Amino acid sequence: SLAGKTAVVTGSNSGIGLGIARELARAGADVVLNSFTDRDEDHALAGELGREFSVGARYVKADLSQGDEARALVAQAGRCDILVNNAGIQHVASVEDFPAGKWDAILAINLSSAFHTAAVAVPMMRAAGWGRIVNIASAHGLRASPYKSAYVAAKHGVVGLTKTLALETAEAPITCNAICPGYVMTPLVEAQIPDTMARYGVDRETAIRDVMLERQPSREFATVEQLGAMTVFLCSEAAAQVTGTTLSVDGGWTAR
Ligand code: NAD
Repeated sequence: SLAGKTAVVTGSNSGIGLGIARELARAGADVVLNSFTDRDEDHALAGELGREFSVGARYVKADLSQGDEARALVAQAGRCDILVNNAGIQHVASVEDFPAGKWDAILAINLSSAFHTAAVAVPMMRAAGWGRIVNIASAHGLRASPYKSAYVAAKHGVVGLTKTLALETAEAPITCNAICPGYVMTPLVEAQIPDTMARYGVDRETAIRDVMLERQPSREFATVEQLGAMTVFLCSEAAAQVTGTTLSVDGGWTAR
């Protein structure tokens, strides 16, 4: 059980982050949810999660494109035994059409925020004598696709950061790993369907089956529950010697 542990999950008012926060709460951890908005429904989401699993749960607004806000998120949590760097955005365009501002935002949110949160969390974990860092990278942390230059660069960076943090914490009871999902049906992926349909000139069903899941040999989406369960495993004692590695949940994508 993760009772008594506090988990900070970045970008967790939706999609994979919310799924991971749910599974950590189910396992008994107190959870800190986050995104860049500060709506009643964000706080209500934390309230519902806390009641459902009888754990402490709150929502802390932080815009992770800003390094100081990423640091403040972990500081405000007060405790951070489990840090899940999940927040991420995507933009699909050829390199010559890629807006420079989008490049900067993707690098900041998908990569640099994990550096800033870890910088504050690692000393807390050392003081507590236990810690788990789980970075949500991607199959695109291990393989490339065209038109996703910023995302692929950022996710490869996350894998590199993961290995470095693992080495820096190797002699402490702290681990740092990256989970590399293939396609998971979330709002982030839903938003890519119109672009994919337009770029390849195909209908929705064809875009999903023949373009998106063409990379995923299982031809099935991974689920947010599966990613949550993998995160809970990485927080278990069974995974105490699993550090500095990538765990693919991609239906065979990276086996090719
Ligand atoms: P999503 O859009 O549902 O969730 C992204 C989360 O990040 C949301 O909670 C959003 O509010 C938050 N976020 C965005 N910008 C932020 C900012 N500036 N500050 C704070 N929070 C911010 O997408 P998702 O599919 O659940 O993606 C979660 C992570 O998983 C991302 O890092 C993504 O790259 C990765 N991933 C997703 C897939 C997939 O198929 N869905 C595959 C591989 C990796």
